[in-house]
Amino acid sequence: MNIVVASGKGGVGKSMVASSLAILFSREKSVVAVDCDVDAQNLGLWLGVKKMSSGKTISVSESAEIIHEKCSKCGRCAGVCKSGAIEKTAGGFKVNPFLCDGCGACNLVCPENAIEMKKVENAVLQKAKTKFGFEVIGAQLFPGNAGSGKIVAEIREKAGKSKKEVTILDAPAGIGCPVTASIVNTDFAVLVTEPTPSGLSDLKRVLCVANHFKIPFGIIINQRDINKEFSRKIGKFAGKNLLGKISYDKKVVESIVELKPVLENNGKAAGEIKKIFRKIKKELKQIA
Ligand code: SF4
Ligand code: SF4
Repeated sequence: MNIVVASGKGGVGKSMVASSLAILFSREKSVVAVDCDVDAQNLGLWLGVKKMSSGKTISVSESAEIIHEKCSKCGRCAGVCKSGAIEKTAGGFKVNPFLCDGCGACNLVCPENAIEMKKVENAVLQKAKTKFGFEVIGAQLFPGNAGSGKIVAEIREKAGKSKKEVTILDAPAGIGCPVTASIVNTDFAVLVTEPTPSGLSDLKRVLCVANHFKIPFGIIINQRDINKEFSRKIGKFAGKNLLGKISYDKKVVESIVELKPVLENNGKAAGEIKKIFRKIKKELKQIA
């Protein structure tokens, strides 16, 4: 069972919910938690992990490289490069690796066979064992690199190999490639929002992604009491898909500061998350 936690908007409590669900499921099933935010991982922190250990590097793209000895300086490569990655220099032509997206067009048009496509190391796999007995898996994108969607696909594949009963995927914010890669082929999407106009707007955007892939979903309104009127509005929008509401709770802030999972502080939010967990289990039974 793959359960993705997504939100569209950042900072609405997605990782808090994902980490709590992983802990709660781990009391009943074998679990693996996957941090799909390869730009800025933090699921481990919510699970009390101080340091993730690095493993293999991940390569999901290529970059062009000019073999200067073979180059006749005809300039065709610069002419076809839509990314503007090939610059003319005093000595000939050179590729700017930060602009090259590895499309290979220059390699195809070069009459001297002077362009090679080289693999780029885009990220490093990371993992840690939580004190709850399950693993959290993620990856750290190297600065200036692209391909975060493909990297998410790689870490999901790795998590799949662990053959756990439940995989909790913590999606990044937004609706771009890594979010799509986090949502596709999941069994249920938990969509977290906050009662603000941007929370609702971004919820609708991420809902489009979930609906596109026909993923059953439920909605959680976090910090319900910061805007009661908007909270009601989103509740109405969610209708029967509302999984529950979580109150603003200072104990959550304390948890983040102390690197302590929210469920361990026994605050109001922790109780509400447990109630939501029971509702999610009921939803899962219906779709199983
Ligand atoms: S691989 Fe594509 S993006 Fe990179 S330099 Fe060649 S044409 Fe430009
Ligand atoms: S197309 Fe090939 S030969 Fe022409 S400038 Fe580019 S690298 Fe050199």
